[in-house]
Amino acid sequence: MKIWVARIPEEGSHYEGDDPAEILDLGEDPFIRVTGDVHYALHAHHVSDELVVRGTLSVGMNLKCTRCTEFFSTTVADSGFLRAYPASEDTDSVDITKDMRENLLLHIPGFPVCSEECKGLCAQCGADLNKGSCSCTAGDRPNPWSALDSLDL
Ligand SMILES: [Zn+2]
Ligand SMILES: [Zn+2]
Repeated sequence: MKIWVARIPEEGSHYEGDDPAEILDLGEDPFIRVTGDVHYALHAHHVSDELVVRGTLSVGMNLKCTRCTEFFSTTVADSGFLRAYPASEDTDSVDITKDMRENLLLHIPGFPVCSEECKGLCAQCGADLNKGSCSCTAGDRPNPWSALDSLDL
């Protein structure tokens, strides 16, 4: 998104709208699917020779749960976007697209989980434990010490 500096009145300007998901430039990421446009609600105003831009960014995404490996839909948002750009009298516009991208990518969780209660996959058979328990119950698990039980000491 580009902000036309010369058109901003003294009290500042408010911008609300959508930029295409392509600005995030995620390519073919196996863990992330962007599901909507990048929404921005920003306020820009002059502070001496700088243009200060602050506000909120958000985008809908499907992320792969690191426990159960299923995709779940979520909103990645940055409610604290705050940047200052040099803006002298002959600055036409300021392009904040790169910073929008950077801020949103920083707000994608490193280890996304579909829910705090997600039980994940069984470490032995790989079954999704959210869909029910598998047959690998504690009693059936091969116990390295069970051979000791049959020893007559
Ligand atoms: Zn999960
Ligand atoms: Zn299992």
